[in-house]
Amino acid sequence: MSNTIAFIGLGHMGKPMALNLLKAGHSLKVFDLNAEAMKELQEAGAQVGESAVDIAKEAQMVFTMLPAGRHVRQVYEGENGLLQAVAPGTVLVDCSTIDAQTSQDLAAKAAKLGLLMLDAPVSGGTGGAIAGTLTFMVGGEDPALEKARPYLDAMGKNIFHAGKAGAGQVAKICNNMLLGILMAGTAEALALGVAHGLDPAVLSSIMARSSGRNWATELYNPWPGVMPDVPASRDYQGGFATGLMLKDLGLAADAAVSQNSATPLGELARNLFALHAAQGQNAGLDFSSILNLYRQKS
Ligand code: NAD
Repeated sequence: MSNTIAFIGLGHMGKPMALNLLKAGHSLKVFDLNAEAMKELQEAGAQVGESAVDIAKEAQMVFTMLPAGRHVRQVYEGENGLLQAVAPGTVLVDCSTIDAQTSQDLAAKAAKLGLLMLDAPVSGGTGGAIAGTLTFMVGGEDPALEKARPYLDAMGKNIFHAGKAGAGQVAKICNNMLLGILMAGTAEALALGVAHGLDPAVLSSIMARSSGRNWATELYNPWPGVMPDVPASRDYQGGFATGLMLKDLGLAADAAVSQNSATPLGELARNLFALHAAQGQNAGLDFSSILNLYRQKS
């Protein structure tokens, strides 16, 4: 086993996370189904592989940052999956946001094969991924977390050990359900104020310093032009896709059903994002584009 780190999934989040591992001086091999996604990493000094197994089989630590549970299962399980290919003792860290049950199943299978596996979904958006200030919510055993910690430190600022396998996913799903509710609520409040003639920048400043303050008003305003470096000010390109927020709200709904929990606001947010995602190309736009569901066209 070499001291190389493997990183699979170089999308909006994975690419800047992998770049931060390189900047911290780690030897890195990368793979993504989309060859374009690997170019920037290669230019920055990473080795590019032919497949997930190709880059992971001799790595001491493997990170995955994939869209949804089905992609994660595809990469880890089956004949050509990572679980069968990597050496005993390898630490596997899945940073994707997926259902807790899949994380638990994979961690149990990994343990049987002498592998250490963590679920470590993140919060902080693409801005946090680029700045290396992500929050990691980790599920799994202490020894695996201690091995992964120096690498997580290169990509994030806050590392929380939420509990056993799957606990990181539960924490993440609760957080993102709240985020979906807050973003829809912020869009709704801004659209109401603007319909009454208020300047969205002035209303945003007021709410950011009053009791309506939240992550959207402070760091990720959904109204175009109010903040310079957010997706709303670049036609909702980049950032966190509406389709991924819809996935997370669906995970929250499933999690609620499994424990007979009531999540009426989470369900309402899921329905709002489902309506929005069904129109045109909205599923691929940043989730703050939910504003367009409320905005009155002049
Ligand atoms: P993305 O769609 O931009 O990137 C996913 C990447 O995975 C793509 O480049 C895709 O080609 C690659 N991929 C898919 N299947 C693959 C396979 N079998 N082998 C190799 N590569 C494969 O998604 P993202 O925005 O980077 O999000 C990734 C995960 O992080 C999601 O679970 C998302 O919910 C979560 N997340 C995203 C954000 C955000 O702001 N974008 C924030 C926190 C968490």
